[in-house]
Amino acid sequence: MNETCRFCRRPLPRPPRWSDGACDAPACRHAATTAALRRWQQSREELRAAARSVAREHAVELGLPAEAAPPVNLLPANGNRLRTLPDDRRERFLHHLRGLLAAVEAHGAAGDANITETAPVAETAPVAENPTAVDHACATCRGRCCRLGGVRHAFLDGPTIARYRRDHPDATAADVLAAYAAKLPDVTYENSCVYHGRLGCGLPRAMRAELCNTWMCDDLVQHLRGVTDGAADPVLLAAVEDGRLHRVALSVGPARREVELPDASAAGARGAGPG
Ligand code: SF4
Ligand code: SF4
Ligand SMILES: [Zn+2]
Repeated sequence: MNETCRFCRRPLPRPPRWSDGACDAPACRHAATTAALRRWQQSREELRAAARSVAREHAVELGLPAEAAPPVNLLPANGNRLRTLPDDRRERFLHHLRGLLAAVEAHGAAGDANITETAPVAETAPVAENPTAVDHACATCRGRCCRLGGVRHAFLDGPTIARYRRDHPDATAADVLAAYAAKLPDVTYENSCVYHGRLGCGLPRAMRAELCNTWMCDDLVQHLRGVTDGAADPVLLAAVEDGRLHRVALSVGPARREVELPDASAAGARGAGPG
């Protein structure tokens, strides 16, 4: 542990207030933040270079023409393992769903200020403007954000269930429960949403929570800024977690081809996050 500031060399307070070896002086804070940002940018460049290298090695598999040098867009990666959905997680989720159904039954969509219908999916989904680009990006990432869907709730709430009931006026509460239960995949990612399976989300968009239909992570937003949906220009997508490259995919028009790295730790830079 340094005893002096790495920039001004004055003694650091005990215990140090920052973990970056810099003191509280504004100039040192600025220098430390700038250095962290540079390291972060450098690690992102290293990851892009690693993705290009993987793409060159797997050019045939990816269908990448020899002379092509597509841009590389970094995305998050879900690196969790798949396993059979345990009965207790399935049951906890269904318990949550029964509670939502009971609340909607008791209060109705309009009868309770806490349970209001959401707008129709098509109106609330900015992803609808870029369906191919979003599909390709999220399929390469494999749903890092779905890990926040928790082990039991899948972000489903009163408004979502009220909307589903409105769209299926003849369905009983038991029918709704059965419809949602039928979409649970047998195999899901550990420590993620119950619907998060090998092929992505098991729920059709019309059954998902509004958040699931509208959420875009920062990397996805950045990616969409640089592409035209379904365009023929190839783009390399690189899925990264904890500074490690997990997958590289080539997105060209409607096609996405992917290379999974056998050992994610063997390629890519470390420390992609700031600091
Ligand atoms: S929104 Fe972002 S984190 Fe979520 S699946 Fe898509 S790329 Fe991954
Ligand atoms: S319901 Fe689907 S989109 Fe929403 S968190 Fe679960 S797997 Fe992800
Ligand atoms: Zn200092």
